[in-house]
Amino acid sequence: MKPIFPMHITIKDLQRGFETKYDFTPELEANAKDLLERVNKCIDMVDAQLVLLGQPKISPVRVTSGWRPKAYNDTIPNAAKKSRHIFCQAVDIADPGERFTKYLEQDFKKYGKDSILAVCGLWVEASQSVNGWTHLDTGVRNDASYGVFIA
Ligand SMILES: [Zn+2]
Repeated sequence: MKPIFPMHITIKDLQRGFETKYDFTPELEANAKDLLERVNKCIDMVDAQLVLLGQPKISPVRVTSGWRPKAYNDTIPNAAKKSRHIFCQAVDIADPGERFTKYLEQDFKKYGKDSILAVCGLWVEASQSVNGWTHLDTGVRNDASYGVFIA
């Protein structure tokens, strides 16, 4: 049976070809599936609201960074050493003008525990710390599984 909503982001999009060189363990796969379920739902929810507002959707989306195998992450200047990208718990999506990030920030400010981030169980990196992309992850910060964080 086909899913009702299109899969905006797939495991392949997260792997970015790294699976041919590095071991994509069952744990990484489980993390990736959990992340994608939340992120795809988040995109659907934002798109649905944008349609009601008569604004262009966020989708189709383009992943600019997904899984970063540890050995690879270590070679990136300024990359967090314990980045959630290493564990398939984070994804970056192209976001010109930080439109997607700002939408999630405003929704969170307005609705808090009933926000899209809360419903999906996602953290977004604050618009002030990103430049042209949206970073979403399934981390836990201050005992919370959702919110806006400043890197
Ligand atoms: Zn990121």
